[in-house]
Amino acid sequence: MPNMRMDKNPMPVQDPEVRIHNVDEVATGYTAEMAIDEAKRCLSCKHKPCVAGCPVNIHIPEFIARVAEGDFEGAYEIISLTSSLPAICGRVCPQESQCEARCVRGIKGEPVSIGRLERFVADYMREKGETPAVKAEPNGHKVAVVGAGPAGLTAAGDLAKLGYEVTVFEALHTPGGVLMYGIPEFRLPKAIVAHEIDKLKDLGVEFVTNFVVGRASTIDEMMDDGYEAVFVGSGAGLPNFMNLPGEALNGVYSANEFLTRYNLMKAYDENSSTPIQHPTKTVVVGGGNVAMDAARCARRLGSEVHVVYRRSLEELPARKEEVEHAMEEGIIFDLLNNPVAVLGDENGHIKAVECIKMELGEPDESGRRRPVPVEGSNFIIDADCMIMAIGTSPNPLIRQTTPGLDVNRRGCLIVDENEMTTKDGVYAGGDAVTGAATVISAMGAGKKAAAAMHEYLSSKE
Ligand code: FAD
Ligand code: SF4
Ligand code: SF4
Repeated sequence: MPNMRMDKNPMPVQDPEVRIHNVDEVATGYTAEMAIDEAKRCLSCKHKPCVAGCPVNIHIPEFIARVAEGDFEGAYEIISLTSSLPAICGRVCPQESQCEARCVRGIKGEPVSIGRLERFVADYMREKGETPAVKAEPNGHKVAVVGAGPAGLTAAGDLAKLGYEVTVFEALHTPGGVLMYGIPEFRLPKAIVAHEIDKLKDLGVEFVTNFVVGRASTIDEMMDDGYEAVFVGSGAGLPNFMNLPGEALNGVYSANEFLTRYNLMKAYDENSSTPIQHPTKTVVVGGGNVAMDAARCARRLGSEVHVVYRRSLEELPARKEEVEHAMEEGIIFDLLNNPVAVLGDENGHIKAVECIKMELGEPDESGRRRPVPVEGSNFIIDADCMIMAIGTSPNPLIRQTTPGLDVNRRGCLIVDENEMTTKDGVYAGGDAVTGAATVISAMGAGKKAAAAMHEYLSSKE
């Protein structure tokens, strides 16, 4: 008999007063008992609506049935058929708008907690010690992957499993992309990402770090060097700014720079050599997940934090869970406000942000009500730090150095239905193609491209 309780098993979390003084993971994970109990809420629906909500179509009812039986290894095997990063997706996927949005248990109560179960299974296997991956028989072909984010890592893993000699070229000193430099430790422990990368190394994938494609070597030069096909998963890491007066003052960061210093360079650690100012009052501009991450990192550096967002709570695009966690941590939401200028002191450092109040007008092309400034409502927020989290775009370097790569008006690479770009043998996927999106969609694109690259190279043979 299924467990017909309406609510999900709640996720145990660290107390907000405690967690703002550490960088440990906020959500501590289900125990085996909680996981089995939650799994029993699944009705094993014949038509499996939840599967259609998952971009990589994980066999959800089947893996959950194994969890309900206490067969966690069996559950992991099923998940691994379609997903290579379950410990990561179980943590950061926007499940509420994907698999869980389609769960029938969500009609009269809360959906089955698919993401938490996926995370539990992946963590169980990691802690138990998985059997090391076995290298595939080499097929004699050599391919390159540009960028070691979820798109590149997934493509690399799938190609290595097919016997390709795969080299991943990464601009930063550590592979992982946003998983390493953007999403904070307290949401996604870096040891988990490192573990996934080690598994790829076991499969024979080679990583070349501190290598900026387009500078150290171009894609054409790589192809001349014997790489028969290239996958571009270079993400969308170029930050957008508002071009406000005073935006170039010291103490004004892009969210990417702030988060990279905090996460990748471990600026929260007193022994880290990374310079970062420990602000006393921070204004974060934006309302997405990146804004929530930046705000919560600044909070952990001891700052009072204000999120300034031009629409209301209803339109805030960040995940509900992240907003709730941010609120619990004491972050102040200054909604229906927009910055108009940054004011500096005599040393060229930010001292305040001038804002204007907004009201919501008619819906715009996105369907959301357009924020309109309220004339004469300007006011000042004192601040010694400002973090701009208003979106990112793909870096133009690769397209500028690769003749034949076409982009759309947002600077995103154009690909066909097989993820091939407008240049023969060059594939692309993830944020470089879609603009800023999600880990699981980047992973899905990497998977699709790897299969298409295999078909392309096999047909050439
Ligand atoms: P990326 O992860 O950006 O990786 C691209 C890699 O390419 C980087 O390592 C970069 O250094 C490298 N690179 C770029 N140019 C070059 C070059 N010329 N040569 C060599 N290497 C290069 N998504 C979710 O699903 N859930 C979340 O909770 C979530 N939170 C987020 C929080 C933050 C702060 C940010 C910034 C994003 C978040 N996202 C989240 C979005 C998600 O992380 C991205 O959609 C995803 O990482 C995109 O994957 P990718 O592989 O396309 O690119
Ligand atoms: Fe849901 Fe994401 Fe897991 Fe797919 S990968 S089942 S969308 S949590
Ligand atoms: Fe289980 Fe919900 Fe999927 Fe039905 S829709 S199989 S209840 S997870």
